[in-house]
Amino acid sequence: MSSPFSIRSFPRAIVHFDGDSFFASVEQLMNHELRGKPVVTGGERGAATSLSYEAKQMGAHRGMSMREIKKICPDVVVVSSDYTSYSIYARRMYSIVRSFTPDVEEYSIDECFADITGLRQKYHMPYEQITKMIQDKLRADLGLSFSAGLGPNKSLAKIASKYRKPAGLTCIPAKEAHVYLKDVRVGNVWGMGGSTSLYMQKLGINTALEFAQQDEHWLEVNRISKPYRDIWTELRGGFVKQLNTASDDSIGSIMKTQTFTPPSSDRAFVLSQLARNIEGACSKARRHGVRARTCSFYLKTQDFTYAGLSLELSLPLADPREFQRLVEAEFDRVFKEGVLYRATGFTLRSITAEHAVMNDLFGDSERAETKSRILETLDGLNHKFGSNTVHFASSFTARKDGDAHQERRALRARRRITLPIEKKRKSLNIPYLGIVR
Ligand SMILES: [Mg+2]
Repeated sequence: MSSPFSIRSFPRAIVHFDGDSFFASVEQLMNHELRGKPVVTGGERGAATSLSYEAKQMGAHRGMSMREIKKICPDVVVVSSDYTSYSIYARRMYSIVRSFTPDVEEYSIDECFADITGLRQKYHMPYEQITKMIQDKLRADLGLSFSAGLGPNKSLAKIASKYRKPAGLTCIPAKEAHVYLKDVRVGNVWGMGGSTSLYMQKLGINTALEFAQQDEHWLEVNRISKPYRDIWTELRGGFVKQLNTASDDSIGSIMKTQTFTPPSSDRAFVLSQLARNIEGACSKARRHGVRARTCSFYLKTQDFTYAGLSLELSLPLADPREFQRLVEAEFDRVFKEGVLYRATGFTLRSITAEHAVMNDLFGDSERAETKSRILETLDGLNHKFGSNTVHFASSFTARKDGDAHQERRALRARRRITLPIEKKRKSLNIPYLGIVR
């Protein structure tokens, strides 16, 4: 092989769309009074999560405290995050892109990947023009601007969309990757964690290009593990990372979250809060006559970082004890001693209708059937006497302390001082879908 980048330009054509100042732009779109003004979202947490261009121009940036922002930008309008509205716009974005190709990955609340391989024949135009067409459609239909990147894989598409922000379109064919990679710090490559990039720097690797130019032997000697080998392959133009095209929207997902005040580092308490969400989600699934095979849970820390895991059952169920068992077994992979947690969340995914669940040959369904009679009784009692009349012991701690927590929380809420420029809005317990660490 003469050059590491000699693979054909686009054996696969992957695009990445990234909303520009997404949250702040949605706010300006919904409230015309905010247009043309410096707008910052994240008022409820005291630090900026998204900034309009007017605010960025004044030198404000993400993560900056509202106090600092007000110093440099006294006219700033601070709003509380409205994740319900942002996710409605996100859904619209996914569905617009899906009208061009079914292979869309809903990557985050303002980003998605799409596989447009083969669409050249359909539209009689090159991939770059197809990307432009989708980008224009997003702008026209949503009134929001998106940066777009086209590449032979997800890693290069993501580098491409970042290249010209806002509203840019960058195309990185495999054979030209080196031109772009030389300016990208290795730590800024998608999927490179902080510790890995430190390790790379120790090995003398500072840019994405330096990493891509290493050979198999170098990877071997320096014990580069699979996820980073995959990145290495993609930086060289290969296609490894598949698109996760399962949509939460099309099959539906059931999510329950719970925020508690004050935050807690008590393992039993946090687990119990999670158990309460598991029960809630499973109860809803049974009410809707559906079962789920996969689930995920997350813990949110006091400083608003998220950690979580996705787990899978051998067959679809709506029995909280099965999910509880699964979550308990993996809980300590996520829970860290001494860390203060403020919320938990649990989501059921891969949902199927009850009647569509086939009996398996391994006896799991039989075991599940016996249990479901207990659940029927429980649902019957809760229906008759009000929800949560009967619940599982696993969530007892959360419920017992729950009332006291709620009261304290209500008191704090009443005492909370609203800044004069902050828009009053009900704060929602919807997790930030964009960052999961
Ligand atoms: Mg964005």
